[in-house]
Amino acid sequence: MPVRISRALLERILDEAEASPCHEICGLLLGQGAEVRDIRVSANVAQDPARRFEVDPAVLIAAHKAARQSGLRIMGHYHSHPNGGTEPSVCDAEMAVDDGSLWLICSPSREFRMWRTGAQGLHGRFAVCDIAVDA
Ligand SMILES: [Zn+2]
Repeated sequence: MPVRISRALLERILDEAEASPCHEICGLLLGQGAEVRDIRVSANVAQDPARRFEVDPAVLIAAHKAARQSGLRIMGHYHSHPNGGTEPSVCDAEMAVDDGSLWLICSPSREFRMWRTGAQGLHGRFAVCDIAVDA
C-alpha cells in the first residue's frame, strides 16, 4: 500500500530543500494509517549539517504531544541531501532502526523518494516505499 501525502505538504518540504542547497533540512512526518497528514519543520541540530541531520529534540517532544492530542502518530521524518541523490547514505543507515518508520529523502532539485526501514534492503535497512501524491 502506498503512503499518501498531499501535494501541498510535499511542496512545503521540497521548497524547504530547494532553499537549503548547502545544509540538510529535516522534519517530522505525522499522520494516520498510511497517510501523511502534517509535517513538523525542525532545525537541523547536527554538528555537521552539510552531511548529517538531527531533529531538534524540542521539536520531537512537541510533535509527540501534538500527535497525541490530534490522534496522529509520528510516521517518520524527512531530510534532504544537498549533493542530490535520494538514496539513504551510510550515515543514514547508521542512524536507522528496524522499526518500519518512513524516511522521505529529497534534494534541492526537488527529487524525492520514500523509504521504509526494515531488516533488509539497501544497507540492509531500507526498502523503497511507494508514494501517492494527492492533488
Ligand atoms: Zn541522508
